[in-house]
Amino acid sequence: MVAGTALDREWLTSLYKEFHRRPELSGAEEWTAGRIAEELRRFSDWEVTTGIGGHGITAVLRNGEGPTVLFRADFDGLPVAENTGVDYASTHAQLDAQGQRVPTMHACGHDAHTSSALGAMSIIDASREKWQGTVVFLFQPAEEASIGAHRMVNDGLRTIIPRPDVCLGQHVVPGPAGQVYTAPGPVLTSSTTIEITLFGRGAHASMPHRAVDPVVLAASVVMKLQTVVSRELPPGKFAVVTVASVEAGKANNVIPDSARLALSCRFYEESVRTRAVDAIKRIVRSEAAAAGCEREPEFRFLGLLAATDNDSTAYAVVRPHFDEFFGAQSQEMEPWTASEDFSVIPRAFNAPYLFWTVGITPLKQWRRAEAAERLDIDIPSNHNPGFLPDLSTLPVTTQAAALAVLGCLTHQWPGTPAGWSPATGTEASDIDAAAVRRAKVETSQAD
Ligand SMILES: [Zn+2]
Ligand SMILES: [Zn+2]
Repeated sequence: MVAGTALDREWLTSLYKEFHRRPELSGAEEWTAGRIAEELRRFSDWEVTTGIGGHGITAVLRNGEGPTVLFRADFDGLPVAENTGVDYASTHAQLDAQGQRVPTMHACGHDAHTSSALGAMSIIDASREKWQGTVVFLFQPAEEASIGAHRMVNDGLRTIIPRPDVCLGQHVVPGPAGQVYTAPGPVLTSSTTIEITLFGRGAHASMPHRAVDPVVLAASVVMKLQTVVSRELPPGKFAVVTVASVEAGKANNVIPDSARLALSCRFYEESVRTRAVDAIKRIVRSEAAAAGCEREPEFRFLGLLAATDNDSTAYAVVRPHFDEFFGAQSQEMEPWTASEDFSVIPRAFNAPYLFWTVGITPLKQWRRAEAAERLDIDIPSNHNPGFLPDLSTLPVTTQAAALAVLGCLTHQWPGTPAGWSPATGTEASDIDAAAVRRAKVETSQAD
């Protein structure tokens, strides 16, 4: 069904609905991974590896000398009870990490990412006489837990696939259905979670002179940390330092011997992040010393994610293809305050990357909310029980993925073999358009 045609919309939609009905939690995506692997069997010449870092999968097609381009799609769901009312809504439930049975939902659209990646593969596979190089599709589990990409890298990803010259990824977001948003530079924040333990000296509550009181120390640290963003970082630079949790003491008559703080910090720029983290450490250590602590505070970095910082060359290569193909629907991306582990993959290979977003809200719903100035209230965001991509956007995410991959295959990247040039007799900018436009014709016929 797939091999002969560029894109079969019926197959794409039913595949998407199948994934949507059965979302699985991060790290527990056994069925989803099995279903992806089953679809990959249709692509006979692709070298498929399963079980990378848990349920991770890669598929590689070597098609002559040329650039190596990687496209990544994630496929985990969330512990959310779906409330969309569609006949393909999830009724699935799973045991969470605490052993509790929870309803699951593809509330972040990772099902759309994955089915679109398989759709893009079918376009790329069917047009292989039009391009040369190597294409890698990477299906990543456990994105929501921020561990999936790290696990794949730690499980030998670098020895399983060839080094990509460029990595690509996308995310569905609230926005008019079919709009494709790209931008160079930082587009998603980095996320740094820090757990800090302050060690004082415990004593009877009536004898503070015998204690080094970690409660007073913690209070002073929390207040002093407010100066990191307001006094140390340049005004106008985006930064959030939130002390989200403070824990100390269990009894009213005991001065505890330690206190624990949990910080969540978000940034766009790595230099800002480094400055903020250095300032946090300096302030915490200095406050502990000022309080007379005998033991140094401990810092544990949990869930560290770098910002998604789009490469300007990758942007310059892909954006004209989007502009040409999607016309006015190709738009500038506003930075998103969410964080992603996508960039862990390109960073592992020291490769440039581009991550873009696609609007999936039904147009009528969007326009109505916009007219009422209620976009933030009426439009379900990612992770909301009502978040649901309009089905018309499946071909868009599929075409965007195929276009970007094929566009990058026409570019001479620093790692591309010397002397290589795009397929002879074809204008670089035409190579992708031909294959994807064919897909566009087929999808519009299916309407
Ligand atoms: Zn999410
Ligand atoms: Zn997501």
